[in-house]
Amino acid sequence: MNIKKENNNKEIRVRFAPSPTGYLHVGSARTAFFNWLYATKTGGKFILRIEDTDIARHQEETINLILKSLKWLGLNWDEGPEASGEYGPYRQSLRTSIYKRYSQELIQAKKAYHCFCSPEELKEKRKNKTIEGKPYKYDRKCLKFSSKDIKYNIDSGKPYAIRFLVPENKTINFKDTVYGNITVNTDSIEDFIIIRSNGLPTYNYSVAIDDALMKITHVIRGEDHLSNTPKQILIYNAFNFNIPNFTHLPMILGQDGQKLSKRHGSISIEKYIEEGFVREAILNYLALLGWSYNEKTTIFTTSELIKKFELSSINKKPAKFDYNKLLWINGYYIRNMENSRLKQLLEKQIRNYLASKNIIDLENRIEPLDQKIEKIIPLIKERIKTLKEGIDLISPFFIKISYSDELATYFKNKEIDATDILNRVYKTLSEVSSKFHAKDIEKNLRLISERLNLNFRKIAEVIRIAVWNSTISPPLFETIEILGKELTLKRINEYMGIIL
Ligand code: GLU
Repeated sequence: MNIKKENNNKEIRVRFAPSPTGYLHVGSARTAFFNWLYATKTGGKFILRIEDTDIARHQEETINLILKSLKWLGLNWDEGPEASGEYGPYRQSLRTSIYKRYSQELIQAKKAYHCFCSPEELKEKRKNKTIEGKPYKYDRKCLKFSSKDIKYNIDSGKPYAIRFLVPENKTINFKDTVYGNITVNTDSIEDFIIIRSNGLPTYNYSVAIDDALMKITHVIRGEDHLSNTPKQILIYNAFNFNIPNFTHLPMILGQDGQKLSKRHGSISIEKYIEEGFVREAILNYLALLGWSYNEKTTIFTTSELIKKFELSSINKKPAKFDYNKLLWINGYYIRNMENSRLKQLLEKQIRNYLASKNIIDLENRIEPLDQKIEKIIPLIKERIKTLKEGIDLISPFFIKISYSDELATYFKNKEIDATDILNRVYKTLSEVSSKFHAKDIEKNLRLISERLNLNFRKIAEVIRIAVWNSTISPPLFETIEILGKELTLKRINEYMGIIL
């Protein structure tokens, strides 16, 4: 039987193998990124394999979301769905005949056997062991069947699984890049199922078959799979497959030391896209989850990461997810971004925002959106940490404002004649030259303050509420300049109308 499979290819081949059970979250995105970094750094290949054999949970839509998030992050794959590759198909649900064929080879070589035990029977045996206080391990009842019995059972339609025959009292040894030497005695492993009675493979079996057939040289994945590795090595050994290099990435915990979950803030890439994070910031932050270059450096561009990243610098210590640090890094990338790129990103974000709110009619349509954004950028670039925060800050530039009751009555019991101030502001601004520059606006508005002998802050508050529908706004004079004379005067008028 042709069981020896050689891998003489020196090229580094890594894979990201998500099970499509939900969005691409921080943990999986980090795994994908570390694989991609290692492949890119070494000139190797990054393979994407969808582990969708668990039909109950697998959803087409989820697979598409995972692919979309990976593309958004720029983690393009050399082989996988939507890409060619000589070791496909790259979806496990399309590889069931392969798993079956290899399981037949194992049966013929007496390295696996049919198991006809029903789930109820197994449950009962497990229960009894638990009552006795003993660890449960399958008792190999079905290993004793003769080939005649097996044939009879199969022919009579009895459901069966296929179990791997774990060699007795052997030592499995492997070196994990992060966790060091791991030694396990095979006696602690039961004859595990490799093909379920529904014909579908179990994870430890299909992953080993696929990694070997896809000639994966380095397996880089979450620490939660460290304990699965010995079983996978048993499968490699049974076929005499080359054993890949293993790197298990430390767990990611929330600030409270608990396993990372939605409670700790947004954790899916999909959500980050919505919230207006930028890809370089996300990648930069992902790299810091378990890897470090030195104690001090936090900011790494993707190309610096490609240069500096080493598997050997991954820490064992669980990483702590810190949303505020991610926000800070995002703000850093926004502040240091070319204005032309920020303009593109903000425009896209604004269009999505408007679409989500069903707003098609912009308040100020005289000027094209991108030109307006270009003017707004200097006002907000240093202040925002996400694009969404930027949009929230500048939406009155685009959207019709409607004053709340609170703002409509804001000056009612205050010792300030808002109507008088606004009348003056209206008159002054109508007379400012057609260029309507922030400097001229400022000069003229300050004159009102002098004339009324009133602190300018008080006047600014009235104007802000009238033109911006809030007591806070980006720098006032520039805001008025960008709003334009017409819209500014229109809003002042509107506000006067409601406070009269
Ligand atoms: N499908 C597995 C998961 O999503 C992949 C594990 C592995 O990389 O071997 O956890």
